[in-house]
Amino acid sequence: MSRAVVEPRGYDAIVVGAGIVGAACARALALTGRRVAVLERGSAVSGTTSHGEGNLLVSDKGPGPELALAQHARSRWGSFAAELQDEAGPGFPDIEFETKGGIVVATTQAGAEPLRAFAASQRAAGVDAREIAIADALELEPWLNPAITVAIHYPEDAQLEPVIAAEAMLRSARRAGAAVLTHTPVTSGLIENGRLMGVRTDRHELRADMVINAAGPWSGEVAELLGAPIDIRPRRGMVLVTTRMPQRVFHKVYDGDYFGATQSKDAVLQTSSVIESTRGGTVLIGSSREQVGFDASLRVEVLQELALKALRVFPFLAETAVMRTYLGFRPYVPDHLPLIGPDPRLPGLWHASGHEGAGIALSVSTAEIITALADGQPAPIDPTPFRVDRPAVLGEAA
Ligand SMILES: Cc1cc2nc3c(=O)[nH]c(=O)nc-3n(C[C@H](O)[C@H](O)[C@H](O)COP(=O)(O)OP(=O)(O)OC[C@H]3O[C@@H](n4cnc5c(N)ncnc54)[C@H](O)[C@@H]3O)c2cc1C
Repeated sequence: MSRAVVEPRGYDAIVVGAGIVGAACARALALTGRRVAVLERGSAVSGTTSHGEGNLLVSDKGPGPELALAQHARSRWGSFAAELQDEAGPGFPDIEFETKGGIVVATTQAGAEPLRAFAASQRAAGVDAREIAIADALELEPWLNPAITVAIHYPEDAQLEPVIAAEAMLRSARRAGAAVLTHTPVTSGLIENGRLMGVRTDRHELRADMVINAAGPWSGEVAELLGAPIDIRPRRGMVLVTTRMPQRVFHKVYDGDYFGATQSKDAVLQTSSVIESTRGGTVLIGSSREQVGFDASLRVEVLQELALKALRVFPFLAETAVMRTYLGFRPYVPDHLPLIGPDPRLPGLWHASGHEGAGIALSVSTAEIITALADGQPAPIDPTPFRVDRPAVLGEAA
């Protein structure tokens, strides 16, 4: 049970959900001097954030608003990671921010041209996407399959440890005065004269000027409880974790099939193999995408498909043992864009959600947009594509 003290005068902002998006928003709002409370129904960082891989990618996004948001976030992460580490103080674990870069490969002749064309479209949008000779790719990644047909190097891709990063944000928020109430489920909204004035939990009634729904894949449920439904669905993803080994994977390496999987609306299973090493010495192989509700049952055939695709990229993995697997639920919106900002249907309600497979990366920019809009200041990038009243969010998409 949380020991944080409840503010009798109410709050300027209540954040529902202590995942990385809620944590980033709470920190940013608390640093403006606002009185902030974070309400989390479980333990802090126990939702999807604890099941993500920590990639901060520009390489997997085609030109458009999500890429623009990812580019903004990437431009911020270097200094932001240092600020966070500093705010967390000595003795706090390293958030493991690494600008290791990504290498995207095609494993077939048929995949070569589409990957080149995708990289060219990204270059036109300002992404550093360099086609490199196969020999150079093998120099960067000596264990890579030499039979690959194309390799694109993305020096901007980075990585961090998402749970530690989110914990650091919460610590920073607390230091700026925020209350973090764990094991405190929000059960309904306090609506007066058509305005959301706060929330009810299982044991409190808490008032606030703004309530931010940052409940990840459960944001649809929370929005419904608060009185303004939105269409956010869980998109399940599974990851394989190998036993520890001497480092043999030096970048984020993945096959070009990944682009199709991230952008697709299909509910059926899609997999692509994103392979990366961690500081702990394990290799993560992720991930799948399926719309099966909140079904948490393990499907061996999904793991098998992931493993087979990974072998095409790094054949040495055939000799490697898998230590564990895990799964999580991405917050999915049918148009693949997050929703960030006030809900025009219910004054007082805001959303910071729907980041699907990129919420760790995009958390920093989401928090900056929310804070700028709350302050009546220009947002750091155009927030219009992420507005809440779009057909895909309101369940009106074709
Ligand atoms: C397999 C996998 C791999 C991924 N890899 C990456 C990656 O490499 N890079 C990347 O950027 N993203 C990645 N993602 C996506 C990323 O993990 C998510 O976009 C991000 O974690 C979402 O964060 P969040 O804070 O919105 O949600 P969450 O972390 O789910 O937090 C929401 C919180 O709200 C709480 N909550 C729900 N209902 C209530 C209620 N009624 N009252 C109070 N609290 C409530 C939940 O308990 C939860 O803790 C991956 C996702 C998966 C599944």
